[in-house]
Parts: sequence; structure tokens; C-alpha cells
Amino acid sequence: MLVGFHIMSDVMEKIVSLCKRRGFIFQSSEIYGGLGSVWDYGPLGAELKRNLKQAWWRSYVHERDDIEGLDAAILMHPNVWMASGHVTSFEDTLVDCKACKKRFKVEHVVGKKCPECGGELTQGRQFNLMLKTHLGPIEDEGSLSYLRPETAQGIFVNFQNVVNSMRRKIPFGIAQIGKSFRNEVTTGNLTFRSREFEQMEIEYFVKPCTDEEWYEKWVEDRFNWYIKFAMTRENLRKRQHKEEELAHYAKACTDIEYKFPFGWSELEGIANRTDFDLKQHMRLSGKDLQYFDEESKDKYIPYVIEPSGGIDRSALAFIVDSYNEEEVKGEKRVSLRLHKNLAPIKTAVLPLLRNRPEIVKMAKDIAADLKSKFKVMYDDTASIGRLYRRQDEIGTPYCITVDVNSLSDKKVTVRDRNSMKQDRIGATKIMEYLDEKFK
Ligand code: ATP
Repeated sequence: MLVGFHIMSDVMEKIVSLCKRRGFIFQSSEIYGGLGSVWDYGPLGAELKRNLKQAWWRSYVHERDDIEGLDAAILMHPNVWMASGHVTSFEDTLVDCKACKKRFKVEHVVGKKCPECGGELTQGRQFNLMLKTHLGPIEDEGSLSYLRPETAQGIFVNFQNVVNSMRRKIPFGIAQIGKSFRNEVTTGNLTFRSREFEQMEIEYFVKPCTDEEWYEKWVEDRFNWYIKFAMTRENLRKRQHKEEELAHYAKACTDIEYKFPFGWSELEGIANRTDFDLKQHMRLSGKDLQYFDEESKDKYIPYVIEPSGGIDRSALAFIVDSYNEEEVKGEKRVSLRLHKNLAPIKTAVLPLLRNRPEIVKMAKDIAADLKSKFKVMYDDTASIGRLYRRQDEIGTPYCITVDVNSLSDKKVTVRDRNSMKQDRIGATKIMEYLDEKFK
């Protein structure tokens, strides 16, 4: 529940500033005044997002043997959205404040007054969230198409293709990461609610009588996944949907919520979608999408458990959660204590004296060597104190410093971001050292 979502808390302001200053997140088309609720990821944000997607893909598509990956197109046949119910039911109810003219989703308003100024609100109006476009040269009803509002439907319409091409037996899942689009009307809080965003979704197909058991398993699995990547357990909670909250396709749904500075808000939803989608696609396409169980000779429409998360929301939650301020020797130190696998830069190589060519050369050689395995940053544009602070602020787990002694003893200093502890390591042993740390 987003209460007072226009009022950015102190922490949120710091995060927004850090994200822009350090190249994580920029407003789209900023030089033209920006485009509402659309965001660009800067060099470090792009790395963070890639790492997040890779971590998810690895956890589910590579490390498990019951899930296949898919990369379906954003544009789909318009009937897909008729079948899924999005054309008729993917709507928000909006109310406007007659006094301050602000617009709210009805579920974000407690009571009957404007949450911002206490003014009188209009009657609710229905608003479909799908973004429309036209395919081909003529803009008429026949060319109408939609930018997908969820990646899930690409999976459902390819269910038979994956079963047949990969000889899959139920239970199994199909995972997909990709862009989705929603014409969101309420905005704010950086990337939390964007009009263009990325989802990471799994549709896990099961035998109908086993759905509840699988649903419970997936809620636990996804909750623990965030903790595995160092999200603070206390900042996460599960919230089960009440009967009246459930989407038209769901028998049960649990949200994993994160305690953002602007309140507990959804990070991911795990839904029991039953056989709703496959049944609907069978009805509209006329194709048989049933599964034939060769052992029991049963034919049935599988039930589906769907863990559906947002990359952008997760990235934001990981940034917020890892943000740390402390006092070190009378000075404020800001660090992002991101999990090593998520950190945009894995290691920074820093020469202690930038006017000593031998030191610079040694540092550059080390950086060049490490690049074959790690995302490395070489930086000699400030004093060592400032260089460390910069790296702390962007979450770099290890800084490697080359100093005068390095020239003779061929050793460098490796500094740990969290503990600030320093290790002296042989220059030729660094690759091994980092390999061990990132294992
Ligand atoms: P909300 O209630 O916050 O609008 P939702 O319940 O409509 O979210 P779902 O349809 O369940 O969201 O989508 C699954 C996931 O996709 C969400 O948990 C979220 O992480 C992500 N997501 C959905 N809409 C957006 C958006 N506008 N911007 C960023 N991420 C989004």
C-alpha cells in the first residue's frame, strides 16, 4: 500500500540523488524535460540489472532441471489479450481531486478525501492500462495491437511448442525475462511504478490436484531467493491476497513485499492461475492445449503457479536495502552493501600515486588482466581517500591499490568494502583471490 507516495522520504531522496549522480538511473529524455514514469539505466544501473537478471536466470533456468527459458516477442496477436481478459478487465479505477487536481488509484485512497490536500474526490472512472499501437501502414481497428502488459501470455501461447520441442513432462516451468508496458497513471518513487519495465516470470505447469502444494513451495522459494542475495529478512514480508483482491484469473496469490522508505510495497506476486489461461487460449484459438500424460494416459489442462517479479522494483529494493551510512574517523561513509554477484563493478584498481608512471602501469596491467573475468574499473582521477569513497558508494566489493612498495615486493592491497579490512596479496595471485571470493 503506497500511502503518501508523492512525499519522498529523506532516505528516498538520498537514493534518488545517488542513482543519478553515480550513473544508476536517469530520467528518460531528461534534456526535453523528461517523460513521465519512464526511466533509463545508466552505466552502473545497466550492470546491476544485468547481474540481477543473470542471477535469476541462473537460479531457475540453469541450476534447476525442471525449467526452460523463453524469449517471446513483445507484440502478440490481439486475440491473446481478448483471451487473457486484459482487453476487458485490465483496468484501474481512478479518482481525481477536485481541489488539487491530483489523480489516485482508488485502492490507494483511504476514506473519501484526497490523501494530499483533503479535497473532494470525483467518482471513480475505469481506465485500461494497456498501451496500444498499430501494425502496418493503416491505422484502423484491424491493425490494432498492444504492447504486452505482462510477459506471461508469451509463455502460455508457447506451452505446446516447449512441451513438444523439449519433450517436457509435467511438472515443469517456463521462465522468461522481458519488457512489459502499462499506461500507469499514478507515478512517483523513482522506478517503482514505471510505464515501461521488465518482468521476470515463471509459469510452472502442474497436475491440477497438486497446485496448492506447488504454490506453497514457490512462495517459499521466491521469498528465500531475495534473502540469498543479501536482502534483509526483516524488510521482507509475505502478504496473502484476500478473496476480494484476487485477480480474475487467480485462485490464490501471495505478494512478497519490501519495506521501502515509502511503505511496504509489492516486489513480486506468486499466483495460482489455475487452468484459466490455457483454457481461455483453447477456447479462442480452437487449438487443443491439453497435456497428455503418457504414463497414466490422462489428458488434462495443467494448472499454473506463477511467480512474477519486477526487475526494476527488485533493483530499486536491492539499492535501498544495501544503502548504508556510518561514521568513520569522524567522517560520513556511504556504501552500497550489495551482494557481490549483483554489484555493478566487481573490483576497482587504484594507483596510490597517479604521477608515478611505474605505479600507473602496474595498476593498468592488473586491471587489463582481471577484465577477462570481472567487470573492473580503473580510476586515477582523485586521491585514494576519494577513490575509495566513490567505490563504496557504488557498491564495489573489492578495491585493489598499487603503491610504491608494490613496485619492489610485487604485492598489492585488497580492501574489503564492508569491513574496510585490507589484505596484502601477491600481484600474480589476485585472480585466484577474487575467484575464491566470487565463487
Ligand atoms: P501493483 O499492484 O503494484 O500495480 P501488480 O499487482 O499490478 O502491481 P503484477 O501484475 O502482479 O503487478 O506484476 C508482477 C510484478 O511486475 C510486480 O510484482 C512488479 O514487481 C512488476 N510490476 C508491475 N507493474 C509494474 C510497474 N508499473 N513498474 C514496475 N514494475 C512493475
